[in-house]
Amino acid sequence: MKKLLLILIAGLLTACTVKPEPEPEPEPEPTPLSAYEINLRRDVLSLMAGYPGGVVDVEREGDRVYVITENGSRLVYDDFEVKDFETDVLPDLQDTMDVLYYFGGVTGRSTTDPGRIKPYTLLDALYGHEKAEIADDLQKVAFFGQNLNMNAKYGAYEALSAAVTELGPLMSADTTTVPYITPSSGTWNYRLISGTTVLSLHAYGIAIDFKFNSYDYWRWISTDQQEAIAIQRIADYPDAIYAIMEKYGFIWGGKWMHYDTVHYEYRPELIFKATYFSEAPGEKEPWYTGIDETDEELMALVERIDEQLTVETTP
Ligand SMILES: [Zn+2]
Repeated sequence: MKKLLLILIAGLLTACTVKPEPEPEPEPEPTPLSAYEINLRRDVLSLMAGYPGGVVDVEREGDRVYVITENGSRLVYDDFEVKDFETDVLPDLQDTMDVLYYFGGVTGRSTTDPGRIKPYTLLDALYGHEKAEIADDLQKVAFFGQNLNMNAKYGAYEALSAAVTELGPLMSADTTTVPYITPSSGTWNYRLISGTTVLSLHAYGIAIDFKFNSYDYWRWISTDQQEAIAIQRIADYPDAIYAIMEKYGFIWGGKWMHYDTVHYEYRPELIFKATYFSEAPGEKEPWYTGIDETDEELMALVERIDEQLTVETTP
């Protein structure tokens, strides 16, 4: 008993003389990301969130970043080459996401071409390139009396089907919108872009042209008078139509300087980037500022991107 008491006293004395734990060293401030790195991570997140199950991962190797697709393709994010897109060059992913898409009204001819440069490497990896391969994934959307083929692989079919459920009520409520929408002049069509040697987005089954109008494509316009009509048509175009399409992941060709007013294409990565990343983060804010940080799936992607893209620096 006495022995136990001594031990207890000794223990207490020790406890009293124990030095307080030193304050933990403050975590070193992470090096702030460059504007380029912020944009890179935002682009990759927009791709992964835009094509769930399609764009599955990202890797850094030396000075190159590769985006990985479901079929195992490794797509160069940025080849660092300066390009002139009026000649026939293959864009990299960074090129195709560089011009930010924008929401809201258009008062006339756009001064930018958001989404006009197409991510051919990505589209081929996601949807395939051969006609038969793409045709396998088409499903019919009921479009106000027409049955239109859309690609069901990564969301385009579902997106157009959902948009139809809102375009119908819009046309009933405001009949002036009808001649802008229906009949559609086509969705899937395995062909080249008019005046070029590259596949049209219609070839992948992810684009729809609404009702044809001869003033809708910049290449068809040859006089100032025609140009004035074409631009007036864009200015008059009912906002509610493209707002519905944008809500479901389509971008509108009326917002291109090289306008294609009749045309919509499914580019969920561009809609994602425009929705959440239209502004640069503040100095102390993380690169993903703008997204819903309570969305666990999204935050898991953020974590994966940081894990894969962090460059280990030795002090
Ligand atoms: Zn089109």
